[in-house]
Amino acid sequence: MPGRNEGADAHHRRPHANDRVPDGLPTARPLAACPVCAAPLDGGTEQLLAALRASESRFRAAFADAGIGMLLVGPDDLIIEVNPAFAAMIGQEVPDLVRTHIHEIIDPEDTPRRLYVELVRGERDRIRVEKRLKHSEGREVWSNVTISLIRDDSGRPLYTLAMVEDVTERRQLGDRLAYQAMHDPLTQLPNRTLFFEQLNAAFSAAAAPVAAAPSGAVPDSEPTTDATSTGPVGRRRSNSRRVGLCYVDLDGFAAINETLGHHVGDQLLVAVAARLERGFARGEDRLVARLGGDEFAVLVPDSDGTDQLTMLAAELIKALEQPFEVAGQQLAVTASIGVVERSVLDTTPTDLLKDADATLYWSKADGRARWTLYDPDRGAHQLTRQRLATALRPALERGEFTVEYQPLVGLADGTVHGAEALVRWRHPRYGTLSPDRFIPLAEESGAIVPLGKWVLEESCRQARRWLQDSPSAEAFVSVNLAARQIWDSDVVADVAEVLDRTGLPPRLLQLELTESAVLGPGGRPVQALQALADMGIRIAIDDFGTGYSNLAYLSRLPVHVLKLDGSFVEGFRDPAPGGRPDGRFRRADADEQIVGAMVQLAHALGLTVTAEGIENAAQAERLRQTGCDTAQGWYFARPGPAEAVAAILRADRPD
Ligand code: C2E
Ligand code: MG
Ligand code: MG
Repeated sequence: MPGRNEGADAHHRRPHANDRVPDGLPTARPLAACPVCAAPLDGGTEQLLAALRASESRFRAAFADAGIGMLLVGPDDLIIEVNPAFAAMIGQEVPDLVRTHIHEIIDPEDTPRRLYVELVRGERDRIRVEKRLKHSEGREVWSNVTISLIRDDSGRPLYTLAMVEDVTERRQLGDRLAYQAMHDPLTQLPNRTLFFEQLNAAFSAAAAPVAAAPSGAVPDSEPTTDATSTGPVGRRRSNSRRVGLCYVDLDGFAAINETLGHHVGDQLLVAVAARLERGFARGEDRLVARLGGDEFAVLVPDSDGTDQLTMLAAELIKALEQPFEVAGQQLAVTASIGVVERSVLDTTPTDLLKDADATLYWSKADGRARWTLYDPDRGAHQLTRQRLATALRPALERGEFTVEYQPLVGLADGTVHGAEALVRWRHPRYGTLSPDRFIPLAEESGAIVPLGKWVLEESCRQARRWLQDSPSAEAFVSVNLAARQIWDSDVVADVAEVLDRTGLPPRLLQLELTESAVLGPGGRPVQALQALADMGIRIAIDDFGTGYSNLAYLSRLPVHVLKLDGSFVEGFRDPAPGGRPDGRFRRADADEQIVGAMVQLAHALGLTVTAEGIENAAQAERLRQTGCDTAQGWYFARPGPAEAVAAILRADRPD
């Protein structure tokens, strides 16, 4: 066969034959089939040769005219041929590139050399990599490179063919998108995502096996005293990494937004961000981020100790005290800061942020414009509060609540007129919880709305049974309504629905509201009150005397009953009214006079009066003397099951 197809031989030995093929290229033996067109070569006809030539020129045309960069590289890493597209990509001329070493245009540093060596050795056929090329003007050209191995007919590697696509723009766009994903568009500060990334990094850096001692051996009780300073910044070298966080929230930002407009608010945020970034960001050592709204965070991923963080917080407060020049005016803002600093071994990123958030809240509650350091005791208390708060709704669904009833007794004749419904939580772990433990939490979380509705329905159903049982007693049930039930739900519709469902006449329902609930936000009376009164329901003001005690004003509202707070009755213990032998005026006397006056005034305004917290006979008697209408207290009965009230009703009036 040798010598039979000289032309074909030349073509098949160098499939991409060109004039500048360097010496020393491996020569291939003649092939059984053309590697370009795959035609069998045993025919040796003119036709076949023409086909081969055509295919070769097609390839050469494709190589030369391709929009994509192409280069052919020998096993010695010298460039055999490049196409104009590739040369243009890196700002060079084709002839200048031929026979240059590929490392002159491709950074060998970032070449996944191993893959390439494997390719050249014939261990793989194709690799795809992202490469940084050097443009003649010095800039970087990012490219996607696919390198294929060209073998000879016996399968030995001959050359590599690289196809190079310029992805610089795509990559720049990608960089831009990545930047946008990690930064807040308004202030350009790192955003929540980047903040969490860095926070998590601080924890995973600590988890890396660089720690000298096992974690259990770290003396956490004295975090700041085991410092062994290294270097000018005094960074502690310790086997337990510590992390610190200042959680910053501007005070009264919402008011600025509302009064001056959002664009001023935005400009203020930008100014605050700039001041924080300039004054406090320290590269890897400190990150200033915007977590959202007017919340910022300063993260110290490798803290020296608590002192460092409290000092930082004080500096932050001070830095923000200087007024801001925004939209041509001077704006003064203050900030509240929650500070948490601890060993990473004691915490997780989520807990750290949660505690910082709670601490920030304490700062606000303690009067704003201050920093507060996390206090584990206060935190533990908060934790159970939080646990209870989240457990409320599921507990309601599981039926863990019950209602107890405490009789309301007529002081004139000692009979039971009705009973107050008092909710209890039979908590599977903490036992029976009194409403003081969970009602405020339910109010905060809004769970009071479904809970209150449940109590209402349960109580009305019960009162309806009392009515069936002892019709002539006409016993009413008195149900506490929380402020949020009136503002956040359609209480009028709910009550009407419950009365309808349970069949309780409206006159046998009394609703207890505190003064502040009746007056609502801004001191305006709650509209729902009139609608409820119009339905024939009685409205009582609970805990009267602890709030504004504006009797004259209350009497103009549809209110029927005043429930005097138990604290007034406390002094009513002694049987004999009047001054002490030493002539000094007793507090009890003052209370008695106040109560007497209040009862008279209430009666004059058409209200009846109920006294709470009656614990002994003397109190009961003296309240009766002041003209109080009804009373409630342990002296008569403790809160108890509905059946206990039913029994008293039956005994009072055997129908
Ligand atoms: P409140 O409406 O002023 O209820 C009277 C409270 O005084 C009840 O406490 C009752 O057990 C207690 N008490 C009764 N007699 C005496 C006494 O002789 N001496 C003393 N020292 N205390 C007495 P409780 O049951 O712990 O309820 C506390 C508060 O929880 C209630 O105060 C009420 O404001 C609220 N509450 C109870 N149930 C509900 C409810 O279903 N919904 C709402 N929103 N609040 C409720
Ligand atoms: Mg009450
Ligand atoms: Mg009360």
